[in-house]
Amino acid sequence: MSATGKVAVYDAPNQPFILRDYPLRPPLAGEALVRIRMSTICRSDIHSYQGHRPNPCPGVLGHEIIGIIEALGQGIERDMRGDALAVGDRITWSEYFIPGPNYFTEVLDLPQKSPGVEKYGHMAVASEPHHHGGFAEYCYVLPGSWILKLPDILSDEEATPINCGVATMVAVTERAAIGLGDTVMIQGLGLLGLYGAAIAKARGARLVIGLDGVAARRDLAASFGIDHALDPADADLVAKIRDLCRPDGADVAIEVCGAAAAIPTGLACLRTGGRYVLGGVVNPGSMVQLDANVLLRRMITLSGVHNYHPRNLMQALDFVIANRQRFPFHTLVDGKYGLDQVGQAMADAAAHKVLRAAIVP
Ligand SMILES: [Zn+2]
Repeated sequence: MSATGKVAVYDAPNQPFILRDYPLRPPLAGEALVRIRMSTICRSDIHSYQGHRPNPCPGVLGHEIIGIIEALGQGIERDMRGDALAVGDRITWSEYFIPGPNYFTEVLDLPQKSPGVEKYGHMAVASEPHHHGGFAEYCYVLPGSWILKLPDILSDEEATPINCGVATMVAVTERAAIGLGDTVMIQGLGLLGLYGAAIAKARGARLVIGLDGVAARRDLAASFGIDHALDPADADLVAKIRDLCRPDGADVAIEVCGAAAAIPTGLACLRTGGRYVLGGVVNPGSMVQLDANVLLRRMITLSGVHNYHPRNLMQALDFVIANRQRFPFHTLVDGKYGLDQVGQAMADAAAHKVLRAAIVP
């Protein structure tokens, strides 16, 4: 084991990333030390880096991570499925870890909302054990995380987005209760929207409509199960969608565009009794004006999903394994950068030059 590992640190929002060495120690009980294979830039990393959401600095970002087990601490022998873990295994793990049993986990079944929950790539780099973000050479997988061994059949590009993007869309589509024959409208065709469409089809949706202002993203849509990709600036948008989802509108609307201003459009496209799930408005202060009477009169269910339940992580992995021939998931990670290029990767991702930028240390 090396004595130190490099971490790409940013001192304050929008400041350059600097490679700094931090000490490595053998993993403590319940921990695993992982050598990072790949870490992809999630939209929330960009929001944190640009200072739109609170994140402690100097910080290390990156929570969509996979890696190879370098060392295992005492008592960590199996993954969440029960498969044996060994040094050299390639793994993914939950983007968050909980401090122990608590009311939110045990009673409400919302472990991701546990008091004291921490997320990888969301802590100050000064906080021990320093290596807890994806833009680095190493990461400690800490107690209270859920680990899954990755089968060899999956490429790094297919496997890396599973623990945030894919698992989140499994949770969002689960909440939307998408069933056989449903019509689904998805606002935002980034990685979340494209995976959301594929999962909606796998859950039995008969028609999926995707909205995005970026033409290149609309061009990708068909291969991920989207039947109609529309520009949200289209003046006849609501009428078109309601006509495609006859007789009364979409059964389900999903927001993953991150813009609260899109919510009234989503509501207008839903049928009476439709379900609307918000998964993208992650920034505080996402204000929007709504006619609450529309929710009441049209009997709309409006709900939000933040992160995911550990079962969704396992479902996400199994979904990608089962559907990797049907949908070209490997094409979504379309830019690769070294650990010394995090700043460039972040700029390209923010400018939509790449769909999912990957840091390969
Ligand atoms: Zn994420």
